[in-house]
Amino acid sequence: MTGCGLDVQPEHPKLGAMRIAVFGARSYDREYLTAANAEGCHELVFLETDLNSTTAQLAAGCGAVCVFVNDRLDAEAICVLAGLGVGLIALRCAGFNNVDLAAAEAHGIPVVRVPAYSPHAVAEFAIGLLLVLDRKIHRAWARMRENNFSLDGLVGRNLHGRVVGVVGTGRIGAIVARILKAGFGCEVLAHDVIESPELSALGVRYVSRDVLLRESGIITLHCPLTPETHHLIDAAALETAREGVVVVNTSRGGLIDTAALIEALKSGKVGGVALDVYEQEDNLFFRDLSDEIVQDDVFQRLLTFPNVIVTGHQAFLTEEALRAIAETTLANISDAEAGRELANQVTSAMVR
Ligand code: NAD
Repeated sequence: MTGCGLDVQPEHPKLGAMRIAVFGARSYDREYLTAANAEGCHELVFLETDLNSTTAQLAAGCGAVCVFVNDRLDAEAICVLAGLGVGLIALRCAGFNNVDLAAAEAHGIPVVRVPAYSPHAVAEFAIGLLLVLDRKIHRAWARMRENNFSLDGLVGRNLHGRVVGVVGTGRIGAIVARILKAGFGCEVLAHDVIESPELSALGVRYVSRDVLLRESGIITLHCPLTPETHHLIDAAALETAREGVVVVNTSRGGLIDTAALIEALKSGKVGGVALDVYEQEDNLFFRDLSDEIVQDDVFQRLLTFPNVIVTGHQAFLTEEALRAIAETTLANISDAEAGRELANQVTSAMVR
């Protein structure tokens, strides 16, 4: 009997070639992971179900689990994995907010990730969302399909000269800031706990979070979700923001208090929202629910606004990114199998 009440015998298949349970596997995961494993070095077991405390049992006989953003590796799930003898959690993504790192450490299970697969994929998508929203391209396309060629209501705004606030100027945020500054000629404000001298040299101005909120006409989020950044955009933040502010979030849904955002959309304080992530997305995204009645009233309300566009966490989804994710994930697993240093390990010390 293990500490989590499961009657399983740990096999501890930690060393050597491991069977890998790939949870939440979609068609593109299979395609790119299989291609990266062309030499057959790894035994990949593809599972459609997401990993959580109930489904973790499916990893029985596997030395590693490979997971994505919406697999829920809380203390309970990790306890089950430890009981099964799973010796590695390999994230096929950059963010690791869905893993209880302290619990993994307590069980001696290292967690590895893909820190940088294609920051350009996400940065370009964020800019794409902003352009679609601000130039009302989503509405124009819907009209076109009904032979409605009227331009009434489609007036947009130039990006040139606008003040854009970039929260988080790491790999993705730095590219977004550069595109906005050098490409579009925006005035770019940035907020980060670590400032980039290269961006400052380009004319990006680092300011406090409050100044960024107060002065930006557009705010785009590129920081990780941590206890400190949870609900970074809440009612109080929106209160201080500029009238008609546009909010773009391709980072993590939990950065925004969605109920507060909806209130601010209703009052007109927020002039537009483009989201690729949503707080409760693990109940919705990556699945075809077109025949079902979606029970999330907050999400459904969000979709009713003409000045809101939402995509289902697809900013990463390019051929280049999928190839890089698959290759780095398998390289991380090979390092663990060979007992090499884990260059892409994440630890609880990395969470601020
Ligand atoms: P990164 O680690 O390179 O950059 C994150 C930046 O945020 C760092 O510069 C860090 O100092 C900064 N930061 C940390 N705490 C902060 C705080 N409290 N306030 C302001 N800045 C803070 O990460 P990245 O590769 O640029 O990715 C950014 C985020 O994008 C990830 O955390 C992930 O959640 C998200 N992401 C989304 C997708 C998608 O498909 N939508 C894909 C990849 C990554």
